[in-house]
Amino acid sequence: MEFKKYLLQEGEIPQAWYNIIPDMVTKPLPLIHPVTKQPLKAEDLYPIFSKAASQQELNTTDRWIEIPDEVREMYRIWRPTPLVRATGLEKLLDTPAHIYFKNESVSPVGSHKLNSAIAQAYYCKQEGVTNITTETGAGQWGAALSLAAKHFGLELAVYMVKISYNQKPYRRSMMQTYGAEVISSPSMSTKAGRKIITDNPNYQGSLGTAISEAVELAISTPNCKYVLGSVLNHVALHQTVIGLEAEKQMEMAGEYPDVVIACFGGGSNFSGLAFPFLRHKLNGEKPETRFIAAEPASCPKLTRGVFQYDFGDEAGYTPLIPMYTLGHSFQPANIHAGGLRYHGGGAIISQLKHDNFVDAVDIPQLDSFKAATMFARSEGIIPAPESSHAIAATINEALKCKIAGESKAILFNLSGHGLIDMSSYDRYFANDLSNYEVTAEEIAQYTKDLEKIL
Ligand SMILES: *Cc1c(COP(=O)(O)O)cnc(C)c1O
Repeated sequence: MEFKKYLLQEGEIPQAWYNIIPDMVTKPLPLIHPVTKQPLKAEDLYPIFSKAASQQELNTTDRWIEIPDEVREMYRIWRPTPLVRATGLEKLLDTPAHIYFKNESVSPVGSHKLNSAIAQAYYCKQEGVTNITTETGAGQWGAALSLAAKHFGLELAVYMVKISYNQKPYRRSMMQTYGAEVISSPSMSTKAGRKIITDNPNYQGSLGTAISEAVELAISTPNCKYVLGSVLNHVALHQTVIGLEAEKQMEMAGEYPDVVIACFGGGSNFSGLAFPFLRHKLNGEKPETRFIAAEPASCPKLTRGVFQYDFGDEAGYTPLIPMYTLGHSFQPANIHAGGLRYHGGGAIISQLKHDNFVDAVDIPQLDSFKAATMFARSEGIIPAPESSHAIAATINEALKCKIAGESKAILFNLSGHGLIDMSSYDRYFANDLSNYEVTAEEIAQYTKDLEKIL
């Protein structure tokens, strides 16, 4: 094993986040109000989100949005994160490609999610909010927000997808350690939850359901706001600290990436790494750079979903979002990359994919664990099952370079570590995991009733 690396950890934390919308050739279509069916205004979002997040969500004009000092102060705990040259993996693959990864797993909670959790908790506190609520799948977002809420003195209730609540007890423990209340979803505490439990008592939960429950609680509780960890534009915005740092660090390494790769759940870590580099493609400076979103074959919204307006949640409380979607009632297989089990791709990425600025690939579950194991054995870090999809896509690209004899620079995001996901690894080693493919009929079934606004 080889641990000699570039460890580029110097440099400043960015002063501002990057909003990609002003630079987009075709702007994303507007979010639509679920009841009036009119384009959404920031005021429409105020009952759910903080005002600052609502305004950021609809901001199509300001390219740079200042990071508040209190947020940068907290980023300082673990940022800038290292950019690492994966020489061990290069050697294992015997590839001429130069592989780099941005290591977001070094945050106190082990993933990139804290970048937006801190920002959103900060804005809620500024606006006098006392309680916040959210959903979590595998638990990474819930853990990140629990820490952020505690720091800013907010009470937090987290709806955790039932299957993860039972399969991933340690993330629940993390949230409780930080002082959050964790509720298994679907629950009896909301109308949305009670309806689903009544219709299907064995339902193992989904992110869509958990979002419905959290939004319902926020709307029906005074001084309580909802906070979302992915999909929306303002979350992508906060995550751009990743790519802005990486851009400087790649410069220090004397390279510019030919390929930029991240795994894709709702798009926040992909957007965070990719957008700062994408701006040079959008303005014509770096037309050749490729951007690859790696999604699980069991939840292939970007590669096989329809481009259509859909709700962000199962019950239809959220605005209608123009995006690649498998349908808001889509029920993904119980794969271990819990953070990638979301039905839709978000407005910005979906438009960029539609306009061919972004590619997507589907990774079968077993390939992701094989890649994860190779990475752990060559680089020493055990990746999150989600991040492993990016690693599998990176390995595929590096092997293409080997065949072509090309020394491309590939940059991927290590969105999190897998130290709390070892039960998934155990099942992989016991040959107890399988691949899940969605059939065309299933996709047609889940998407046939979407409103045909496009
Ligand atoms: C949540 C999560 C993801 C997927 O969410 P995105 O919004 O698509 O980034 C990926 N990796 C890790 C480690 C996560 O916690």
